[in-house]
This record gives sequence, structure tokens and C-alpha cells, in this order.
Amino acid sequence: MAKRRHRKTRYFTFMLVPHSEATVFSLRIAYPVLIIAGLFILALIGSSSFVLTRHIDYDITKRANIQLTEKNAYFVQELASTHEAFQRVAKIEDELRAMLKMKNKKSLLKFTGEGGPTLIDQANLLRTLNNRATITPKEFAQSLVYLKKDARDRMDSYRELKKYIATQRSLLASRPTNWPVRGWITSRFGMRNSPFFESRTMHHGLDIANEEGTSIKAPADGVVTYTGWEGGYGKLIVIDHGYGFSTRFGHLQRHLVNIGQRVRRGQVIGFMGSTGRSTASHLHYEIRVNGVPVDPQKYLKN
Ligand SMILES: [Zn+2]
Repeated sequence: MAKRRHRKTRYFTFMLVPHSEATVFSLRIAYPVLIIAGLFILALIGSSSFVLTRHIDYDITKRANIQLTEKNAYFVQELASTHEAFQRVAKIEDELRAMLKMKNKKSLLKFTGEGGPTLIDQANLLRTLNNRATITPKEFAQSLVYLKKDARDRMDSYRELKKYIATQRSLLASRPTNWPVRGWITSRFGMRNSPFFESRTMHHGLDIANEEGTSIKAPADGVVTYTGWEGGYGKLIVIDHGYGFSTRFGHLQRHLVNIGQRVRRGQVIGFMGSTGRSTASHLHYEIRVNGVPVDPQKYLKN
């Protein structure tokens, strides 16, 4: 009797009652079947929501991945164009050096030395950057090393160029190329029949004649190292222009500058006269290179 009662199955009946019709749909389901069906539905919902969330995750990851790939490609492109920009700068620099007739390129020598990256390595890397959308972290790091080195080298090189140009400018400013006075050349540099001695003597300068009191101008930048009377020169001014150049102005009427004074090219330093061993108003103009008199006409502009 107890066994029978145990076996007795319980049922659930689902009924659908339409409002318009008299027919009633009913479904009788045994209790265990209902439990299994319920569990099955729960499992179905669970697994499908798991799949769905996984799919959303996948979608997000995929989108992030596309963005990362795009970013990577952008970086690679930017790296390549930066390398190329540096190469263009280097080319301009070479042209500048050629224009300035600068000899060695220290940075280039440094670049291949020290066992560091070579230009060939860099060229290979640039080819890699141009041919691929993505690069490895190692290549990326190497690329940055090159860029840093390039930036340093360019900077050093431009500093060197700047220094060179400054020196050239000051050398140019010191070169006595300007005429010290307007007038007529009455005696050139070289051997001549002296107006004071019977023998032929060496004339160490250029004589330019004009009226007494004509302004005499510094032919280049420099420092006055002497003013005063000196034998045959009469009243004399000596200017040191640096780089071995010095100029002398003889037979002056008077001087406007003093020893130690810095003068600029074109600055009036004194006036023409006929002091010392002179027969008429003129300037005796000398250029000396490392103390040796040279022909001023080799330096004077037309
Ligand atoms: Zn003279």
C-alpha cells in the first residue's frame, strides 16, 4: 500500500482559454517532466546569455584590435616620415656645407663609429617602415634610438655650422677690402725710383693722393694699436684687424682715434696730410699679413 502511494504521480495541467471560442486547450504534464523541462529552459537561457556576452566581448575586442592596428599603422607611418624628414635635413646640411666649402663632416664620421647604428642599418629600418603597416616592439625601440641619435647629430652639426659661419663673418669683417680714401693712385706697391734716394727702393704701400683734410676710413673692423709720429711715416695710425691682418696709414694731418679703440669698417679714423717724408698731400696705405707688407691692390675691391 505504501509502495503504491509512493508511485502515485502528480500532474500539472496548463489550460489556454480563448475568450471567443468555447474550445479549451489543456496540457497535462507530469511533475518530473515539468522539473526537467524547467531545468532545460534555465540551462538554455543560461548558456545562450553566456554565448551572447562572449560575443559582445569578442565584438568589443575586435573593434579595439582594429583601432590598435590603425594606431600602429599610423605610428609606423609617422616614424617613417620623421626618419625621412631627418634625411631631408641632412641633405640641406650637406648642401650648406658644400656652399660654405666646409670640409669634413664630423657627425657622419661619428655616426659610423663607436659600434653604434650605421647608416645601412638605418636605411634597412626605413625600408621596413615603408613596407609594413606594423612593426615589432624591438624595431620600434630601434627606430627611436636612431631618431634620437639623428636629432643629436643634426644639432651638433648645426652648432658646428653656426660657429663656422660666425668665424667666416668675422674673418670677412676683418679683411681690409675697402678703400681707405678716395683719390688718385700716385705710387703702387713694389720697387720704385725713390723721390728721396738715388737708388731704387721697395715701396711697401699704396699712395693715394687727394686734398689735405680728406677723410680716411677704416678698411675693415679692428683695434687701433698705434697713433703718433713715426719717422718717414709722419703721423701714423696702425689698426690690427685680427687673423694676421694689420693696416698702416701714413702722412696724416691728424687722427681721430686712440690706441685700444675698436673701429668699424667705414669709420673715419683721421684726415689726409703730408707729414713725414712726403712731397704732397697723400695717404701712404699699407696692408701687412703677419707683419709682412703685401700689395694692397690684391685685397682692395674695385
Ligand atoms: Zn707711400
